Amino acid sequence: MMDQTKTGRFIAELRREKEMTQRQLADRLNISDKTVSKWETGKGMPEISLMIPLCELLGISVSELLSGERLSADLYKKKAEENIMDLVKEREESKRKIALMAVTLVITMLASVTLFLVSGIFEMSVALRVILLVIGFVVLVGGIFVAASLEMSAGTYECKHCGTRFVPTFGAYLAGPHTLTRRYLKCPECGKKGYFKRRLTH
Ligand SMILES: [Zn+2]
Repeated sequence: MMDQTKTGRFIAELRREKEMTQRQLADRLNISDKTVSKWETGKGMPEISLMIPLCELLGISVSELLSGERLSADLYKKKAEENIMDLVKEREESKRKIALMAVTLVITMLASVTLFLVSGIFEMSVALRVILLVIGFVVLVGGIFVAASLEMSAGTYECKHCGTRFVPTFGAYLAGPHTLTRRYLKCPECGKKGYFKRRLTH
């Protein structure tokens, strides 16, 4: 299993062994020293694209980075496979939730619009009309709530300023304008706002 805190401590330990400051390591990777600090305190994992250059600088393998320790040859293969499977599993899980969210939204819209139309078009008592409208409204709100919960639990958002990955609060989530892959949020770490990209993993 991946352990962000363990990986962070391992990065810090290796960096000190190489007698580098956080700033020096950050400069070599063209990132901010805040990002390095984030990794080392277990508040974020290096992006996939940074893993290989980081490992080269620290003199370890990606598998050792993900495991947070140096690995002996026999442990190595097992850990490598576990780490890859963890990443794949989390990505698959996130994709599955996003697909489920899309289906939930479509069903919600169809069901509530149908209820609203039926209550508006056909002859019926006022009581029945009100009941249909209420059910339509409940379906709409419930469906949006379920869809938002699903999407929120699928992966994280990455701050484009400091690289922190985080799960937004439900309020921030609902309030934030968004596109398919980005959402306008405030970073809990550096406090800056912007359109942050969805990531399928933590
Ligand atoms: Zn930030």
